[in-house]
Amino acid sequence: MSYDPNNVFARILRGEIPCRKVHETKHSLAFHDINPLAPTHVLVIPKGTYVHLDDFTAKASEEELADFIRAVGDTARLLGVQADGYRILANNGANAHQEVPHLHVHIFGGRPLGSMLKREPAR
Ligand code: 5GP
Repeated sequence: MSYDPNNVFARILRGEIPCRKVHETKHSLAFHDINPLAPTHVLVIPKGTYVHLDDFTAKASEEELADFIRAVGDTARLLGVQADGYRILANNGANAHQEVPHLHVHIFGGRPLGSMLKREPAR
């Protein structure tokens, strides 16, 4: 999958559409999800043009990698979800049902989030 420069997060980064910003660093941006699935639901994205985690970890510099993972942890602390716990999740590609083709980590918190994935029925 090649990078689409007109995906919605690229447009947010260019300031073409608004977002509710939580945190910004040299290489990363965190903002509230437009359709929250938990009381706290924030997305953290790298500013670079990476489709998903596979693309990012193959191509990004050490500085971008460090900035991004630190931005995820710092954003959670800014949101205050670290005390009760939170979940991070990144959908990567078709099997994971990734909708926006720009790497993003979801931060969910503010309530008990249940188990990680539904088990498949026994065969
Ligand atoms: P994915 O399924 O790709 O992991 O998640 C994409 C996420 O982006 C969804 O949770 C969706 O609500 C969010 N989203 C889609 N369009 C926008 C937008 O224009 N602004 C913001 N803040 N979030 C968006």
